[in-house]
Amino acid sequence: MNPVVNLDDYIKALPKTELHVHIEGTLEPELIFELAQRNNVSLPYASVQALREAYAFTNLQSFLDLYYAGASVLITEQDFYDMTMAYLQRAHADGVCHAEIMFDPQTHTERGIAIETVFSGIARAVRDMQARTGLTSYLLMSFLRHLSEEAAFETLNAALPLREAYGDIWVGIGLDSSELGNPPEKFARVFERCRELGFRLVAHAGEEGPAHYVRDALDVLHAERIDHGVRSADDPALVQRLIEEQIPLTVCPLSNLKLCVVDDLAKHNLADFLRQGVLVTINADDPAYFGGYVADNYLAVAKALKLSRNELAQLADNSIIASFLPIGRKAALRARVRAIAQ
Ligand SMILES: [Zn+2]
Repeated sequence: MNPVVNLDDYIKALPKTELHVHIEGTLEPELIFELAQRNNVSLPYASVQALREAYAFTNLQSFLDLYYAGASVLITEQDFYDMTMAYLQRAHADGVCHAEIMFDPQTHTERGIAIETVFSGIARAVRDMQARTGLTSYLLMSFLRHLSEEAAFETLNAALPLREAYGDIWVGIGLDSSELGNPPEKFARVFERCRELGFRLVAHAGEEGPAHYVRDALDVLHAERIDHGVRSADDPALVQRLIEEQIPLTVCPLSNLKLCVVDDLAKHNLADFLRQGVLVTINADDPAYFGGYVADNYLAVAKALKLSRNELAQLADNSIIASFLPIGRKAALRARVRAIAQ
């Protein structure tokens, strides 16, 4: 194979998975306006431009406030389909071969949208995209941690009858939204139930919250993968454990920058983690809000942290290892990474 000269082309050519993306966070302002018009929802912004200008966040909460406002335009099954299809097309263009997509039913059921509508629209887009391009996706139904554990149980119970129809792609459970003040143990019982039901488990921890939230996500929730986890660096013994047990972190560099988790990408600890042997991966989180999809995130850290092409290939390889794909598909994708790696 000829070496790919341009760095952007090289990143896009690397087969990779995306493991930390919130489908509601992929809603671009243009689509928000289109859906608002289609559904007669009024928005507190005069134009696409005015909405984009509101994306100047100071922390996680300032983003979440806007994020929930944006999601209010999602009403019909077709809306969820259109949102998901738009994301999958962008991911495909970035060289994503497999995505594990988080979605928050509570953001919608609280507004009176049926949970079936949410599942059906997202799953139909996933299946269409797979048939069309081979890009596969799994779904991680996520609980909003600022709500109660009881509300999480209600969501789980409402969703379980849908497992028969969507169980081939709905493989896991996640935990997201406001981290500070909502520690992992708040959801210990519902995660235990999900584990008994055979779901794969992931949880956000150590984004704004302290390193011990990462420990608790592992020990109390039995999360197999930590979303973000950048604050683990505050606890060297925890970092050692992440390395020894090869627990994946789904890091989202542009999100960390935009939400002021780091003030400069050049100071991001992703490169240190990678070089120490932590199973770190690169992801977009909420790309419509944070200024970039997954390839943009690879490119930004490649430049800011001076990553070599081999290290970028390692990150793509990590994303495959850290996925919930069956072992045979992982082996095939990893062989493709090795063929491209420079
Ligand atoms: Zn996230």
